[in-house]
Amino acid sequence: MDARAFRRTMAVLEKAYPTEDWSRGMTAFEVLVSTVLSQSTTVANERRGSEGLRTTFGEVTPERLAAAQDDEIAEAIWHAGLARQKAPRIRRIAEAVLERWGGRVEPILDLPTADARAALMALSGVGPKTADVVLAMAGGHPTFPVDTHVARVARRWDLARSADYESVRATLQRLTPPEKRKSWHLAIIAHGRTLCKARNPRCDECPVRRDCDWYQRGRSRRRTDGPSRDKRLRAPRK
Ligand code: SF4
Repeated sequence: MDARAFRRTMAVLEKAYPTEDWSRGMTAFEVLVSTVLSQSTTVANERRGSEGLRTTFGEVTPERLAAAQDDEIAEAIWHAGLARQKAPRIRRIAEAVLERWGGRVEPILDLPTADARAALMALSGVGPKTADVVLAMAGGHPTFPVDTHVARVARRWDLARSADYESVRATLQRLTPPEKRKSWHLAIIAHGRTLCKARNPRCDECPVRRDCDWYQRGRSRRRTDGPSRDKRLRAPRK
């Protein structure tokens, strides 16, 4: 898919999936914690994990989570999966935000994008994807986070030569105007959840299949296979 086809495709997807900004009303710290919770699980389970934290601790703040025991956090986030790994990660992040940033993530987000990204990634357990989600969703920075849906769709559209995180992100950022990165990121995620699923993508219902390399490759394969099968069927017996 070239740059023109990508813009055309995104215009269609933006209309098809009105932006649902899940971070609205959340503090930057809550966005950070919910992004850690979302690792390797579904949205529904991440939300149950976040709800568990609110129920157990009243408020999801660095002060409360830094003072908690790992077991308490693990019990609260149980539904989000990998609770034993995520609990100490969340506690360490809370401690670091408290010690280095006065208990708020917002001062990090006030930095220029590259510095803010580096400061987030300096928190233990925060990788590039988590940092980019927080930058885009909580800080309005022009990053293009690449989650599992975005990576899969970008691969099917032949957008990036390499599958590594930074290559895919750099390609998407080059193709996307800064003010569109957050909404296009959300639109691709919605598309990945709704039609362009990992298994059995619903290509026949897809409004962008005309520009989709993966779909077009499948079509030409079917075209090539089709006639030869027909020929075999029609071949006279000797
Ligand atoms: S045509 Fe299929 S593979 Fe291509 S974007 Fe649509 S759902 Fe995904």
